[in-house]
Amino acid sequence: MNVLNKKTIEDIDVAGKRVLVRCDFNVPLKNGVITSDERIVATLPTIEYLIGKGAKIILCAHFGRPAGTGYEEAFSLAPVAKYLAGLLNKGVKMATDIVGESAKKLASELKDGDVMLLENVRFDKRETKNDPEFSKQLASLAEIYVDDAFGSAHRAHSSTAGVADFLPAVCGYLIQKEIKYIGGALENPKRPFVAILGGAKVSDKIGVINNLIDKVDTLIIGGGMAYTFFAAKGYGTGTSLCETDKITLAKEMMAKAEAKGVALLLPIDNKVGKEYAADTEVKIVNSDEIPADWMGLDIGPKSQALFADAIKGSGTVIWNGPMGVSEWDNFASGTIAVAKAVADSGAVSIIGGGDSVAAVQKLGFADKMSHISTGGGASLEFMEGIELPGIAALNDK
Ligand code: ADP
Ligand code: MG
Repeated sequence: MNVLNKKTIEDIDVAGKRVLVRCDFNVPLKNGVITSDERIVATLPTIEYLIGKGAKIILCAHFGRPAGTGYEEAFSLAPVAKYLAGLLNKGVKMATDIVGESAKKLASELKDGDVMLLENVRFDKRETKNDPEFSKQLASLAEIYVDDAFGSAHRAHSSTAGVADFLPAVCGYLIQKEIKYIGGALENPKRPFVAILGGAKVSDKIGVINNLIDKVDTLIIGGGMAYTFFAAKGYGTGTSLCETDKITLAKEMMAKAEAKGVALLLPIDNKVGKEYAADTEVKIVNSDEIPADWMGLDIGPKSQALFADAIKGSGTVIWNGPMGVSEWDNFASGTIAVAKAVADSGAVSIIGGGDSVAAVQKLGFADKMSHISTGGGASLEFMEGIELPGIAALNDK
């Protein structure tokens, strides 16, 4: 599959057609109030394009994890319909079911440019089973399927994949951008191509390391996962996060990098703390001198300079995983230094992963990056080189 060759909403005539749009509306909700509208706002370009073209728009999405045995008020998408109506400044009709009488009636009454929302697709347990009969029922509401839920693209469910068997299927702007940047970097990166991997554990990122090591010129490793590599080099790691069952793997990765001529950079110094706490006593030590009762919680200043130098002049940067416990100010310097280097590099820069995106946003670098991925799990799987069902299901150009 060539992900760069998928049809988009601009490749299909939507005027006057009923278009089923899968959105990512899994928003944080507290006492019926939406506490972050980021995901709703992210779908506006696609919805507004379709309104402008005079399509009849049927939105669908999942929300939370209902039992799958029918309507549950706590998991209703009604608050999203109301919120979206405010953003669009036009009515958004809310169906009381997914593929039942209410949905069918509202869908048949849509006029060009009208917008409606189906109830939570997970009210029907067939959704997550990618049940063909349910997919067909969803498809029967519309004439075209648009997938814009990148955050769910790694799931083969009826509304994210199965429905595409029954309708012309294209991506919306949000998925298009994910494909352009992440797919583009993996298939045809501007070089030098630098990957920066950090975060908590090697075990979470084995797939990403494995896939990227075949493609990049430089692989930078920081964060908690660096200590398993230190152990592989025979360094003491004190009380740092270290996965002893992954030391062999770290050795293999280092050997693979060497064999492929990939520069693998590890921190040369570290900010270590006495204990895992925001205000713990700290000091800077070289990587082969971590004292037995101290733990590495951030990369040190020499590593910041080393990494910044490797990032400077790169053509493409993919970054997943903070360089330290960046949630705590005391251990955010490494992540800030790397964010600054990426921002200043002029490279095509891609940030993926829930905590990485949150860190870059919180530290104020989000608008300096080319692409901030909207999917946590989906962007990791994409970077692992796994075929995402929600993208694979779309029609080729
Ligand atoms: P993402 O969500 O972007 O994929 P991860 O979940 O893998 O990233 O990693 C983020 C977490 O890693 C953060 O909670 C951070 O505190 C933690 N982390 C980073 N460096 C260290 C370290 N040296 N020791 C312990 N935890 C760390
Ligand atoms: Mg995470």
